[in-house]
Amino acid sequence: MHEVSIAQSILDTAVAECLRADFRRINSISLRIGRSSGVNIPSLVTAFDIVKADTIAAGATLVCEEVPVRGHCLDCNSDFDAESELITSCPACNGARFRICGGRELDIMEIDVD
Ligand SMILES: [Zn+2]
Repeated sequence: MHEVSIAQSILDTAVAECLRADFRRINSISLRIGRSSGVNIPSLVTAFDIVKADTIAAGATLVCEEVPVRGHCLDCNSDFDAESELITSCPACNGARFRICGGRELDIMEIDVD
């Protein structure tokens, strides 16, 4: 389950940031996770609950915002959201020339500390 290593790296980043700023406790960590990043959010939350034990983030909640897959059509120039990268045509004009330009992100947006 690769969510454990992802949870660990999120935790390490958050703890390092928190200690550098001289804070002692992490209350929550907000993430943006692309729908095609391959990350299973419930598994990630479960993994985070395991790795956070006995750290300054032991009481922290992981807040996950799922970001849709975003495409840009080269034919009609529109931007669109998709359920996955497995699309074959632009939903607006049905054209087949488009780029996928979002949906794989895994970003820490905010760390709430005391
Ligand atoms: Zn189009």
